[in-house]
Amino acid sequence: MKRHSNLPRPARWLWAMPNLALISFLAVGVALLWFVRSNERDAQRDALIEDVLWQEQVLRTELLSRQSQLEGLAHDQVRGDLSEGSFYGRAAAIMTNSPEVVAIAFADEFGDAVWSYPAQALAPIHQVPAALEPMQRAARIGLPASSPAFNYPGAGQVVAMAFPAVQGNRTTGAFIALISLRGLLNTYVPWWIAQRYQLAFLDIEGNTLAARPDQTIDAAGLNSYDIAFDPPGYGLRLRAVVYQIGWPFWQQALYGVLAGLSALMLWSLWVLKRHMQERLSAERALQREMNMRRAMEDSLVSGILATDEEGRTLHVNRAFCRMVGFEAEWLLGCRPPFPFWPNETRVHCETVFQAILRGECPVNGVTMRFMRRNGERFDVRLYASSLIDGEGQHTGWVSSMTDVTELNREREALKASHVRFVTVLNGLDAAVAVTDRKSHELLLSNRAFNEAFNLAEADGPFCALPLRETDPENEWCDPILGRWYHNHRRETIWVDQSPVWLDIATDVTEHKQADERERLQAEKLQQTARLIAMGEIASSLAHELNQPLAAISSYSTACRNLVSGGQLTPAELDNALEKIVEQSRRAGAIIRGIREFVQKREPKRSPCRVGDLVDTVLSLLAAPLNRHGVRLVEKRQADDTQLFADRVMLEQVLFNLCKNAIEAMADGAQPRRILTLETQSRDGWLDISVADLGPGIAPEDVEKLFMPFYTTKAEGMGMGLNICRTIVEHHQGRLWVEARSQGGSRFVVSLPINPARVLAFKPASLAEQPPEPAK
Ligand code: ADP
Repeated sequence: MKRHSNLPRPARWLWAMPNLALISFLAVGVALLWFVRSNERDAQRDALIEDVLWQEQVLRTELLSRQSQLEGLAHDQVRGDLSEGSFYGRAAAIMTNSPEVVAIAFADEFGDAVWSYPAQALAPIHQVPAALEPMQRAARIGLPASSPAFNYPGAGQVVAMAFPAVQGNRTTGAFIALISLRGLLNTYVPWWIAQRYQLAFLDIEGNTLAARPDQTIDAAGLNSYDIAFDPPGYGLRLRAVVYQIGWPFWQQALYGVLAGLSALMLWSLWVLKRHMQERLSAERALQREMNMRRAMEDSLVSGILATDEEGRTLHVNRAFCRMVGFEAEWLLGCRPPFPFWPNETRVHCETVFQAILRGECPVNGVTMRFMRRNGERFDVRLYASSLIDGEGQHTGWVSSMTDVTELNREREALKASHVRFVTVLNGLDAAVAVTDRKSHELLLSNRAFNEAFNLAEADGPFCALPLRETDPENEWCDPILGRWYHNHRRETIWVDQSPVWLDIATDVTEHKQADERERLQAEKLQQTARLIAMGEIASSLAHELNQPLAAISSYSTACRNLVSGGQLTPAELDNALEKIVEQSRRAGAIIRGIREFVQKREPKRSPCRVGDLVDTVLSLLAAPLNRHGVRLVEKRQADDTQLFADRVMLEQVLFNLCKNAIEAMADGAQPRRILTLETQSRDGWLDISVADLGPGIAPEDVEKLFMPFYTTKAEGMGMGLNICRTIVEHHQGRLWVEARSQGGSRFVVSLPINPARVLAFKPASLAEQPPEPAK
């Protein structure tokens, strides 16, 4: 059903047509047969009626003939010419010629049978009342008479016919003949009638009295005809029934053949239809398959060219036509050289084509340059294989080709881009490397990287690289080459989507060395500065040392005097010696302090008390203060604050600031020569300010002060403030200058009390900022 529904409407019509035609044919055939049969029945009936009338006529004629024979006997008997003997003779003659006559008798005028023939074969006629009655009636009335049919023993159904012998007005008797109805039929129905009909005599009630052939036929539905056959017989009827039962053989055979042929035709139609449907569905499947293949072939972007063994073009697909710009019709049947071979590569094309025909085309294909119809050149990658037909025979060659012009162009562009990339990468001073994060395989490295780490091919991709385990941002020293690298590491995704490290290592050895040089230079400068400061403090030193030395001297002198006077007790001596030792220690400490101050040294942090630090500086400032007549004002609120710092360095800072302040006020009026030293701690910071009432600093010069070698003094070096700022910043603090409202300037050192807290904030630029200086 499904397959039918797929059929187009006209096709379904076509399928119905043979069935309709067959049904119509059968209907017409049946109608024709019915018509013929109807005609035949009509004709048969006509013939039947005709035949029955004719038969009745024949029978009636015969009966009339028997009647006339009886009449002859009657005449002869009246004339007296008939003796008993001649009666028997003549009766015998009648019965011999007319077998239907079963008996002939003569009765006198009283109705008594006188003669009867044949007396011995049948019952005596006078013993049969039904037979006597018409004879008696005829004799009585003097006219011929007959009887209804009756059964005559030994002869079956008979009718009696009587003819009177009349002499003048007197009836002398009557002759009677018993006519057997069966005998009538048997004798006077010809064979051709008997073959076609059953003829029968019926009584008035329709009962069959005699029939030929003698068999019971149900006349209902059959063609029959009956007519009255009396007298004699009183209601006797002759009926003919068409004898043939059912259709004639030829008709049956015809119908059978017709039915058989129809069945055969139906069967063959059904088989044909099935066959057609199978073919149709096979054709459709084939068509679908072909359409599919064609669609696939047309959808291909690869061009296909099939040739026979001589190289003649057998087939080209749409993609190939698009490629070369020629129609398929144009290309089919073409032989080399093909129109899509450009002149400049014709020899190459010819060589490749010959190789294909020999079956020697490289398995990996071959690149060729073809030409479009408009002259444009394009590159193809061509693969050839053997063309095998349905029987497995080699019939030619199939070449499939892909336009690789764009691919080549992209490849060239990619190559150029790669060259550019490699050139730039290798031109970088930084060493660049890409390393797989899982396997640590070196995926990419530039020239600087390879040179820096002296990578050779033999090292392979898994060479153990020192950069591998470094922090994302770190400086790293190559212990072998003694070079410093600043490595910037990033996690990223590689071209194959695997996680990789991108390391960019910049050689910072030069920077490092410059920094080191700078540091050394700064140290030297500091030392120089300290040596210069030494000169300044030399008088302070002398003043300081003078006191312990004078004390030692006076204690020693006193001891000598007491010893020489013999008054010295051991306890007094011990006391004096202890004072001397103490003063010596004090002198030693002063000397050691000066040495430490001057000595070139590395910064060294240790816990130190602010009060002690300030005391040391003030002891060194005694001489300059005196010399310049400067009054010192101390506002020390943070003496007990503990710093973790390089004490000597901070002392140097404080000393420098105070010395600058004293010198700034040296030329000022005496009342304004006041040096104010203030310490205070707040919010984890220690502020030390040194204020003067000197000329102050112009705003534009504020930043210059801290630059190296900036000085306004004739014998100044201009390094003091620069070194101070360096030291303060080294302690994560700040040093700045501000103008005072009453004139002069204030230098403020702000230091973190707990530098560990500040140290945690790296880099330095992000370190906690000191509180804004109080205005
Ligand atoms: P030097 O003292 O050798 O000149 P410094 O670096 O210590 O070097 O000082 C740089 C300059 O800053 C000084 O020459 C001076 O002009 C100026 N200066 C420093 N301190 C003060 C101050 N308290 N008042 C005014 N100017 C000052």
